[in-house]
Amino acid sequence: MSKRIVIVGGGYVGLYAALRLQQRLRSGEAQVTVVNPENFMVYRPLLPEVASGTLEPRHAVVPLRAVLSGTRFVAGRLTGVDTQRRVASVAPEAGPELELEYDELVLGMGAMSKLLPIPGLAECGIGFNSLAEAVHLRDHVLRQLEIASATSDPELRRCALTFVFVGGGYTGVEALAELQDMAVDVLEGYPEIDASEMRWVLVEAMDRILTTVSEDLAARAVSELRGRGIDVRLSTQLESAEDGLVRLNDGDSFRASTLVWVAGTKPPPLVKELGLPTDQRGRIVVDETMRVEGHPDIWAAGDCAAVPDLQKGGVCPPTAQYAVRQARRLGDNIAQRLRGGELKPFHYKSKGEFVTLGMNKAVGEMLGRKVHGRFAWTARRAYYATQIPTWNRTIRVLGDWLVGMPFGHDVVNLDSREEPRGAFQEAAGRRA
Ligand SMILES: Cc1cc2nc3c(=O)[nH]c(=O)nc-3n(C[C@H](O)[C@H](O)[C@H](O)COP(=O)(O)OP(=O)(O)OC[C@H]3O[C@@H](n4cnc5c(N)ncnc54)[C@H](O)[C@@H]3O)c2cc1C
Repeated sequence: MSKRIVIVGGGYVGLYAALRLQQRLRSGEAQVTVVNPENFMVYRPLLPEVASGTLEPRHAVVPLRAVLSGTRFVAGRLTGVDTQRRVASVAPEAGPELELEYDELVLGMGAMSKLLPIPGLAECGIGFNSLAEAVHLRDHVLRQLEIASATSDPELRRCALTFVFVGGGYTGVEALAELQDMAVDVLEGYPEIDASEMRWVLVEAMDRILTTVSEDLAARAVSELRGRGIDVRLSTQLESAEDGLVRLNDGDSFRASTLVWVAGTKPPPLVKELGLPTDQRGRIVVDETMRVEGHPDIWAAGDCAAVPDLQKGGVCPPTAQYAVRQARRLGDNIAQRLRGGELKPFHYKSKGEFVTLGMNKAVGEMLGRKVHGRFAWTARRAYYATQIPTWNRTIRVLGDWLVGMPFGHDVVNLDSREEPRGAFQEAAGRRA
């Protein structure tokens, strides 16, 4: 009988493991099912460029049904796993729960923002982990420029023009750098605002940013950001953000309409409820072949798993580069297991790493060499354009980038789409 492989999560792990299985499995050997809430995979390293508008949101995602032609796709969320009966329970968007029987189960549910108990943070902050957050932030920043240019209230103006990002990892640095670059670029359309009135603050608890690149590249990134007038506060923590009043532990406090929290991630809460072994950070504990301890038919990888790093020791970092290669090894190992073959451990050798700092600006490491500026920025773009699955997406991404080069950033703020029924409700007399 054909084996049943259920893959939970359609992100890096889910997509690349399914693609690998499509290649490796013989016809009729197994039925692969991918479960994900949305019918697309978000190419997260491109989110900062979605936020700055240099990339259309639709072009930074991969349509799962189109790419996984030989695989069954179910739009829904895993709600539980019965490891005795080998059944995964899935809640579709509507209708009764589904029970998916499996012979092999893969968990690749990624991670979400990890909040600290800071007063006001949950009410005033926003994360930067999803497509919706990236799209919202772009519109939000443009809306703040409109508010500042229209108001006669100096306090409101200062507040609207203050943008605070907490967390100096690549997510925070890239998001801030891209959005600030966009804001400066569009300012010529706002004659009422002077660039020096905008206040962009990066708050980092450690004494350096970007721990995934070398110290000198991180220092270069700091001087690039400071050179653009960005206030980089190292060894500083957010103490509170009640009613939009940001208080830092260096004694400074100011009002800000924008507070982006990018100071860490954690696996989704469901992971803890599955009854599988987890480490102190809530990640699923797996061996070096990515099998869950004590469960030979369950596998986990990516941001929700603690995969041993056989090169550097400890646990693999939560990056797309690791997740893709873990997924490929995991796909190979499942194919081996179905045929009674030998499982191989996951090994990783870095080919490079880049951090975008806005148009024509980046730092990175490539084949053991440190690179920066326009060269690093071009190399980063070339890398992602060729890595995103399907020519269809590669061409759309390249098209957006080519169009953006001569024309710069677009100033259109489409945040009215966040309330699409507003005009209709007003016409119906339901609201003022
Ligand atoms: C803004 C940003 C920029 C980044 N930049 C880089 C970079 O430049 N380089 C780099 O290497 N890495 C980068 N990363 C990190 C990288 O994106 C992650 O490490 C990678 O996405 C992890 O892959 P994953 O498959 O574990 O999780 P994801 O890609 O997040 O996929 C998890 C999937 O599981 C789904 N899911 C969650 N819960 C359930 C459930 N209950 N049932 C079904 N499905 C579920 C989610 O909806 C999601 O689709 C960045 C991340 C962000 C947020």
